Amino acid sequence: AVDAGLCARWMAATAALVTEHADELTALDTAIGDGDHGLNLRRGFAAAAEAVGDTPGAVLKAAGTALVNTTGGASGPLYGTFLRRAAKALGDDPTATATAFAAALGAGLEGVRRLGGAAEGDKTMIDALAPAVAAFTGDDFSTAARAAADAAASGRDATKPLVARKGRASYLGERSAGHIDPGAASSALLFEALAGLT
Ligand code: ADP
Ligand code: MG
Ligand code: MG
Repeated sequence: AVDAGLCARWMAATAALVTEHADELTALDTAIGDGDHGLNLRRGFAAAAEAVGDTPGAVLKAAGTALVNTTGGASGPLYGTFLRRAAKALGDDPTATATAFAAALGAGLEGVRRLGGAAEGDKTMIDALAPAVAAFTGDDFSTAARAAADAAASGRDATKPLVARKGRASYLGERSAGHIDPGAASSALLFEALAGLT
């Protein structure tokens, strides 16, 4: 079952992966954005990794709030909303089943969709988050998390040929094609961190 400690370790593992890949994220954002994605998320997830709480919901709520408060750019509020909406769905239960966690991820995704207004295929983080959440199924957490991470990586790679319709990359029009979306790349790291926990 998912407990507060697992959620805290998820945030810490994400912070470590984001730090490890910060230069790559920045390079992707330099190609089709303003080159700050690695820096934004390194700061944001370092703060999120400090989050504490007695329940999965409390940890993810604190992590989401930390992200919103510390991350510049579009991605901070979007990831913050993802985590805070997931937290709300988890409520104050001390543990969550894999099925409850899947539902919480779905709520988080819905929050990102609503805030950002992006659909799948718009070349955003949604292109990694949506297939990951869809793949996170079943009552075995490890199996679900591994499937989600693989789906997120495929979704990330599939953004390469797309033309961006949301975010800064959309200002480039057709010239945004040929580059992986930075937010899809960081979303794949979020799920890789989840899969690596178990
Ligand atoms: P900024 O573009 O403000 O510099 P970041 O570089 O931190 O912010 O994040 C850019 C990423 O945010 C994009 O690669 C994309 O995945 C995501 N993004 C931007 N706008 C949206 C949106 N409206 N909906 C979903 N994701 C978005
Ligand atoms: Mg940027
Ligand atoms: Mg920026």
